[in-house]
Amino acid sequence: MKILVAVKRVIDYNVKVRVKADQSDVDLANVKMALNPFCEIAIEEAVRLKEKGTAEEVVVVSIGPKACQEQLRTAMALGADRAIHVESDTMPDSLAVAKLLKAVVAEEKPDMVILGKQSIDSDNNQTGQMLGALTGMPQGTFASEVVVSDGKVDVTREVDGGLQTLRLTLPAIVTTDLRLNEPRYASLPNIMKAKRKPLDVKSPADLGVEIGSNIKLVKAEPPAERSAGVRVADVAELVDKLKNEAKVL
Ligand code: AMP
Repeated sequence: MKILVAVKRVIDYNVKVRVKADQSDVDLANVKMALNPFCEIAIEEAVRLKEKGTAEEVVVVSIGPKACQEQLRTAMALGADRAIHVESDTMPDSLAVAKLLKAVVAEEKPDMVILGKQSIDSDNNQTGQMLGALTGMPQGTFASEVVVSDGKVDVTREVDGGLQTLRLTLPAIVTTDLRLNEPRYASLPNIMKAKRKPLDVKSPADLGVEIGSNIKLVKAEPPAERSAGVRVADVAELVDKLKNEAKVL
């Protein structure tokens, strides 16, 4: 079984995000970048399936500027066997990413594609679903458990008020939720080994995909500053303030 994992380079989740002075976008100058946390969970799940003997090969793919290769090397240090970088100057929107992934799926013919449920920078939560629509492959989104057997994958999903388990026929698409697993850290020897693993670079044209977009980021704004709180003497004063000042009671 071959698993393809899509990984995105995003702003590190520990970084306090700043908006550019002209509000045109988030300021990424000299900011630490990292693997999207949901993509780390996707890599971990694929690597665990390989360690169990369920999968033979884990291939990672990332779309975006040359710097994405850093995250592909990290993914290989975490256990992926090889990487594909689809290079584009800018980070394409979700539909373009899904079209490129569809072309990679056509070339690689994986039995399972694992994506994060969401990128923490753009918060789109749609690439896996779009890939499902474009390829016609069944999808199990927001997986908190993945069990593969006999050409099927059982995906347990956290839904309102409980759990739902879907049985998908492979090849299938899975998107990862936070509770699926706890990703490992890359060891130094594995970081060194990852430098020698194969990394193939392609252009969107090589995959026969033209990446345009009908979406323009108009404005980015930071959240409003919170004003300082006040200390109340007792519950009676709190209730009075909630009723008469905040008017929430
Ligand atoms: P999104 O729909 O943008 O919230 O992203 C969901 C998932 O799609 C991510 O966790 C990745 O697995 C995948 N994805 C999104 N953008 C890219 C990209 N540029 N390159 C590779 N995978 C991506």
